[in-house]
Amino acid sequence: MSFLASRSLSSSKGFLSAGARAIAPASSRLFSQSAAAKNVNFGLSEDQQAYQDLARKFTRDNIIPVARHHDETMEYPWDVIKKAHSVGLLNTHVPEKYGGPGLGLMECSLITEELAYGCTGIQTAIEANGLAEAPLIVAGNDQQMSKYLGRMTEEPLVASYCVTEPGAGSDVANISTRAEKRGDKWVLNGTKMWITNGGHANWYFVLARTNPEERPHKALSGFIVDGDAPGVLRGKKEINMGQRCSDTRMITFEDVEVPEENLLGKPGDGFKIAMGAFDITRPLVASGAVGLAQRALYEATVYAKERKTMGKSIIDHQAVAFMLADMQMAVESSRNLVWKACWYKDQGKRNSFYASMAKCLASRAAVSNADQAVQIYGGLGFNSESAVEKLYRDAKIFELYEGTSQIQRLIISRQLADLYNA
Ligand SMILES: Cc1cc2nc3c(=O)[nH]c(=O)nc-3n(C[C@H](O)[C@H](O)[C@H](O)COP(=O)(O)OP(=O)(O)OC[C@H]3O[C@@H](n4cnc5c(N)ncnc54)[C@H](O)[C@@H]3O)c2cc1C
Repeated sequence: MSFLASRSLSSSKGFLSAGARAIAPASSRLFSQSAAAKNVNFGLSEDQQAYQDLARKFTRDNIIPVARHHDETMEYPWDVIKKAHSVGLLNTHVPEKYGGPGLGLMECSLITEELAYGCTGIQTAIEANGLAEAPLIVAGNDQQMSKYLGRMTEEPLVASYCVTEPGAGSDVANISTRAEKRGDKWVLNGTKMWITNGGHANWYFVLARTNPEERPHKALSGFIVDGDAPGVLRGKKEINMGQRCSDTRMITFEDVEVPEENLLGKPGDGFKIAMGAFDITRPLVASGAVGLAQRALYEATVYAKERKTMGKSIIDHQAVAFMLADMQMAVESSRNLVWKACWYKDQGKRNSFYASMAKCLASRAAVSNADQAVQIYGGLGFNSESAVEKLYRDAKIFELYEGTSQIQRLIISRQLADLYNA
């Protein structure tokens, strides 16, 4: 199984030498935490350790044994979802008031990494609930959260986040789904694309255009739409390169009536709500990527110890050993950045900058580690009987969904001019 190394690397010393401190930009927010630095601690609390152990055991017993079956058949992992619900590994950031465990992002990330280690297709199906729920946690009122988050904790249900459309993915402000106010209802028309859990969702978070005359970021509103509302049409399951048991569909809304009470926040708040949800979910997508990167490293190392060429194990050829060293560094650096993004959020600080860095770095680690694992397996790595071929196919999506790596770089780079001043 996976492991977390170096859990006790706390240091009471600052990282910057006196000389470096002298030239560090005074306005730099990156270095403004020196007073808190003595509290830096990479150790897990007892509770965090318990959640990690629970998720690790769950993965070993319930995900790894069925991962290949779900990959080959593309069957939706309902059984695993039901079991995850029964042991409390679903909907982990739903507040206690609404029946959830109300875990911090750090605890959620520990759980996600473990589930992803077993199968990122199954983990994505589980995680998509968190994505649908996040807009409600960001902007829902008490009634909305009781009704829609409450039911998720009472029974094993799944929900979906519907933002992307055939004509607009990265360009969220340009979506064309419309919601018009008619009497005391909103009427939705439009088509969403690539919606995870789309075929099974009990309800949908839907972003739609309500104020066309407003500037783009004030023109959108967020709605909760019941899955059984007349006019909700679920498309066919898309056949994707990887994560094949995760259910991805086109969802069409044809004159779907939504009661006023299902509007999240005010008309025009939708863009902010939909993007605010990513502060919760991008660190978790990144944790999923770390889980996959860790699995690739584990499988490649075990194989490299067993496989012999030219009289020795291939791990004793420096070219292979150095690939493994790079994979280890990718896992550790990504995990640390994920934890930092989670820590920021759990401290009540804005974490978008760190969430984007974590997602971008960890998704590259997943793609790169899976690629190197296939390389270390040689020809066998290209075969579906190997442990790593699935990882290679599953990894790529991390650089695409919940904002591509280019979009993460856009978000990161926009902060830099403010961060560094002469
Ligand atoms: C399996 C899967 C599951 C998904 N699940 C969901 C879901 O549950 N809910 C949901 O709403 N969406 C979901 N998505 C959609 C996903 O978030 C989008 O595919 C993604 O945001 C990219 O949008 P796009 O596909 O329209 O690509 P485009 O936006 O058309 O981008 C195409 C390329 O251009 C680049 N690009 C675009 N704009 C810029 C720019 N300004 N600067 C630099 N480069 C740029 C992109 O990085 C990309 O490389 C899912 C997608 C997949 C494949």
